Amino acid sequence: MKNKYDVIVIGGGPAGSVAAKFASENGASVLLLERDREAGIPVRCAEGVSLKGIAPFIEIDKRWIAAQIDVATLFAPNGESAKMHNNGTGLVLERRIFDTALCEEAVKFGVEFVTKADAIDLTWKNGKISGVKINYLNEILEIECDVVIGADGVESRVGRWAGIKTNVALKDIDTCIQYTLSGIDIEENACEFYFGRDVSPGGYVWVFPKNKNTANVGIGLAGHFSHAKGPKKFLDEFIQKRFPNGQKIYTVCGGVTTADTLPEIVHDNIMLVGDAARQVNPITGGGIVQGMIAGSIAGKVAAEAVQKKKFNKKFLKKYRKEWDKKIGNNQKVMYKIKEKVLEMGDEKFNSLVKICQNIPADKFTVKALFSEAVKDDPRLVLEIAKTFVKSKLKLK
Ligand SMILES: Cc1cc2nc3c(=O)[nH]c(=O)nc-3n(C[C@H](O)[C@H](O)[C@H](O)COP(=O)(O)OP(=O)(O)OC[C@H]3O[C@@H](n4cnc5c(N)ncnc54)[C@H](O)[C@@H]3O)c2cc1C
Repeated sequence: MKNKYDVIVIGGGPAGSVAAKFASENGASVLLLERDREAGIPVRCAEGVSLKGIAPFIEIDKRWIAAQIDVATLFAPNGESAKMHNNGTGLVLERRIFDTALCEEAVKFGVEFVTKADAIDLTWKNGKISGVKINYLNEILEIECDVVIGADGVESRVGRWAGIKTNVALKDIDTCIQYTLSGIDIEENACEFYFGRDVSPGGYVWVFPKNKNTANVGIGLAGHFSHAKGPKKFLDEFIQKRFPNGQKIYTVCGGVTTADTLPEIVHDNIMLVGDAARQVNPITGGGIVQGMIAGSIAGKVAAEAVQKKKFNKKFLKKYRKEWDKKIGNNQKVMYKIKEKVLEMGDEKFNSLVKICQNIPADKFTVKALFSEAVKDDPRLVLEIAKTFVKSKLKLK
């Protein structure tokens, strides 16, 4: 490691490695720090992504694809189901390989990548961020830079060190638990989603196959619903019914934000990306692709800042603007819809699944589903219309 870089990225997850790559590709000297012994571990993810979402960032490689998904089945509380076909465009990843592959990609573009490097604070000079303090194999080092990119995940501390408010309301965090279950018998190209107050209040249960005998089976409950009965109890009950002989070979606990993007993701000399900035789809809880998109924008803006020697908030806000245009405004709409979904009773879920049964397979998107759903709920239409006017967006 050198004493100084143009850009230091904290966190080697999908958002951080893509940010590092884009900054380096566009001319900046970049250090990427990961506190674990390698990127991608421990895996805290159901590992579902769309092929279309990741394809712009990395050449598709079978090494990190566990399963290719052709169909997703939605189960309503009343037991009815609807199938959404997607012809292999959904993937279940092996994140422990995928995240490292993204870091390798960054290294190819000149990024210096260091593992076992735990960022423990920011350093400051004349009231401005001037670098990062790290614990590297028990040695405390201070490394200077002009721009820090905080990509340190859902439990991000980097934002708080910079004085950015990163807290999220309890109702906007899903508490999750997931087992990788082996010794089961499933279709290896089919995902399952289960909804309803008895199954997962304010969330859903997912079954994402990794092969025909193994799947990630998990649950996310909206935080304020998880007091009376926690997610583990719900999931254990589900597994008892659906996979009574499944063996738990891996257990994951974690939080997923289902919020809007943080109001502030940029300060002088710093940008936040990915889970650290709450750039997660509030309805699906998916954050891999959104984090990569945010990383790509922030990385480019960081390199431009280096070129123009402009590191203040005003300049770095280009990242915010571009993010809102690409995804952020849409996330706002999805957040509003999610708020409504939280209020929905089982009856509404039953009718949503009915609606799904009527949407042609090739036209099926989450947006299509909710635009159909709002048609028979005028209050919902009004609320969402207001959001559209604000963000000048239209459902496609
Ligand atoms: C149970 C569960 C299931 C999920 N399922 C899906 C899914 O199916 N599909 C999907 O798209 N998303 C899913 N998500 C969300 C997804 O995992 C995240 O949105 C995604 O990983 C965010 O990427 P990131 O790069 O922002 O953060 P992360 O992937 O969390 O990476 C952050 C990295 O920063 C490192 N780090 C943290 N602090 C420091 C520090 N101080 N110094 C150095 N390094 C540090 C960490 O070790 C980590 O490697 C799920 C999440 C959970 C909890």
